[in-house]
Amino acid sequence: MTARGPLVVLGTGLAGYTLAREFRKRDRERPLVMVTRDDGCYYSKPMLSNAIAQGKTPDALCLATAEKQAEALDARILTRVEAVRIDRQRQHVEVDGESIAYGDLVLAIGAEPIRLPIEGEGADAVLTVNDRLDYARFRERLQPGMEVTLIGAGLIGCEFADDLAAGGWRARVVDIGRHPLGRLVPTALGQALAETLAGKGVTWHFEDAVVRIERDGHRLRIHTREGARWTTDLVLSAVGLRPRTELAAAAGLAVGRGIRVDRLLRTSDPHVWALGDCAEVEDLVLPFVMPLMNAARALGATLAGEPTPVRYPAMPVVVKTPDYPLVVCPPRPGWHCEWRLAARQGHDIEAHCLDPEGTLRGFALGGAATQKKQVLAKAVPDWLA
Ligand SMILES: Cc1cc2nc3c(=O)[nH]c(=O)nc-3n(C[C@H](O)[C@H](O)[C@H](O)COP(=O)(O)OP(=O)(O)OC[C@H]3O[C@@H](n4cnc5c(N)ncnc54)[C@H](O)[C@@H]3O)c2cc1C
Repeated sequence: MTARGPLVVLGTGLAGYTLAREFRKRDRERPLVMVTRDDGCYYSKPMLSNAIAQGKTPDALCLATAEKQAEALDARILTRVEAVRIDRQRQHVEVDGESIAYGDLVLAIGAEPIRLPIEGEGADAVLTVNDRLDYARFRERLQPGMEVTLIGAGLIGCEFADDLAAGGWRARVVDIGRHPLGRLVPTALGQALAETLAGKGVTWHFEDAVVRIERDGHRLRIHTREGARWTTDLVLSAVGLRPRTELAAAAGLAVGRGIRVDRLLRTSDPHVWALGDCAEVEDLVLPFVMPLMNAARALGATLAGEPTPVRYPAMPVVVKTPDYPLVVCPPRPGWHCEWRLAARQGHDIEAHCLDPEGTLRGFALGGAATQKKQVLAKAVPDWLA
């Protein structure tokens, strides 16, 4: 079903490299070209939010260089270049002056951090960490004894807060919700996380938002919507991601919240495919590792000539807050269920999200209850069967 011209993959994140590996398991012949605007190092992005306390350098996070990856995958890997245009008629992609022909093109270009509108001349000092280079920048600025203000108490904000506290830094977290992980877990678990991290020195500002940042010498003065003020050394924003869709949209491909693909991971063009943080699979945009691994396995087989629709089982996410272990398996968007506490002993909490028929649609586990992850995941219906 696929043309036999080269397979070109844009992006060398977990999605691009996993897809390339899955493809090469089945096809050692077809030319493979990979393009990335970073240095092409193979690294595990989830490590970025628990590497600081361990003192990991950006280089230590690089598990294999682009050269090593090129050798292992028998691929040509172009680094530090940007794909700027897709010519679907000629099946070419323009990459900083070079035009590369493709038989099939895979978009694995990730997502961009969302930036909230914040006033003040200090607003441009707000950092985000979405790749190794961002991590390098953050780490370079982070000096002993500093205080970091985090915007957002979602998964990544909480992980950084715990990691910074574990490394001896002071962390403040500002969030519009009433407790951390407000959109993912019921109150009891959010409060247990907030209490545990407060015990490690994290300061929380709930039901509030950073509206203005001014410079104060080398420091930054934070102003919140509710009138709180403090000075801080660094500000890290972790308020979510937006799939990179511009390249696809400019080429006339269907985009919604992400680059739209069907269960085969095929876009509205039969020779262009997408997976990972940039993709919207049916109605699902899931910027996590498990979905992209499932997608890479399916697409690797499809591109090697064996059409394989992606399947999503329930995919629990482990929150990397070692001070309070947490596992979340939220209900699939569109599923209606209510959170109930199934068991609780102090901070060991098991919560179920049950639909009106009593079917388990999601769960959240804290402390020792996280051991039930596997058993409960099997009881939740597949997201994409
Ligand atoms: C701090 C942090 C912690 C996380 N922790 C977890 C976790 O614990 N569990 C979990 O499941 N998920 C976690 N995630 C999410 C998970 O890491 C991502 O879903 C996953 O890494 C996304 O991989 P990707 O390959 O789709 O995107 P990316 O890794 O962003 O890769 C995108 C690639 O595209 C390239 N690129 C982009 N545009 C172009 C262009 N125009 N031309 C050429 N190349 C281009 C980039 O250079 C890069 O190589 C975390 C994310 C972050 C930021």
